[in-house]
Amino acid sequence: MQQLNFVEPGTLEWREAPEPRLQGAGEALVRPLSVATCDLDKLLVRGLAPTDEPFPFGHECVAEVTDVGDAVTSVEPGDVVSVPFQISCGECDRCRRGHTGNCERVERMAMYGLPMGTNYGGFLGDAARVPFADAMLVPVPDGVEPSAVASLSDNIPDAWRTVGPQLAERPGSPVLISASGATIALYATSIALALGAGRVDVVGGSSWLRRQAEELGATLLDEQFPKRLGPYPITVDASGDPAGLACALRSTEPDGICTSIGIYFTETTPVPLLEMYTKGVRFHTGRVHARPAMPEILELVRDKRFHPQRVTAETAAWDDAADAIAGHRAKLVISR
Ligand SMILES: [Zn+2]
Ligand SMILES: [Zn+2]
Repeated sequence: MQQLNFVEPGTLEWREAPEPRLQGAGEALVRPLSVATCDLDKLLVRGLAPTDEPFPFGHECVAEVTDVGDAVTSVEPGDVVSVPFQISCGECDRCRRGHTGNCERVERMAMYGLPMGTNYGGFLGDAARVPFADAMLVPVPDGVEPSAVASLSDNIPDAWRTVGPQLAERPGSPVLISASGATIALYATSIALALGAGRVDVVGGSSWLRRQAEELGATLLDEQFPKRLGPYPITVDASGDPAGLACALRSTEPDGICTSIGIYFTETTPVPLLEMYTKGVRFHTGRVHARPAMPEILELVRDKRFHPQRVTAETAAWDDAADAIAGHRAKLVISR
């Protein structure tokens, strides 16, 4: 089958790849229908994230189930499902704790369509193998367009984890988001407002992102990151910029919660640790564990409280994927 590969920054290419086959009774094969670019994809395509080899591309998709092993009980051929980008068994101690990005039964960082860890293939192809179908696949409810939730595999739960549990703990709180061009900030804005945040303030961000954030209901603050704002009980660093990270941390109120989805590719990044210590800040950084939050997010979409399609900046047809991805500027959704 043909599979789209990242070749080098700015260049993607369809290449022949072996058709995946079921390798166990608990597995499924899926045919991707709608694929989204992740914020990290944009950095890879622009040469702003480290990678030195070609790889099968695409790790966010909604797909149709085409075949299942004998032991699979939760899905059947024809079902439309969201496929989390991380491979997880659902049964080991870490998966049971909800830490599905660090499943003990697979290689470290076993994922689809990324050049780090073990790559289980990209979603821009006719088939993908799902090793733990019952644990991984999440049926998409009737009435929800596949293209609307193509990013449910990764970026949408990545946004949800910055505000969802935090607002459950502190209902009605205002939220501060340090932004850049990453669309996770926009998903976080929408989800926070859907979950009853008192207000979402966005600091920093590209001009495109600031416009979008305002349309989604955010209040825009400074374009540059000041030393400190607020304080806020809930802060989010989606900037990938040390100044945005420091601003989010300094703007967190005593015993507040700050979550960073930013990827800092340098060995060390300065953080205002003394201020964090004296105030008490609960800071979390790390890869998202995508799978556990997916059903809850789909309920928000089904109930029309959260409209992820409003974050989609560009769309393209399947056959145009190579050029569309090479030139994309923000969240791109490719559909058959
Ligand atoms: Zn991603
Ligand atoms: Zn596991």
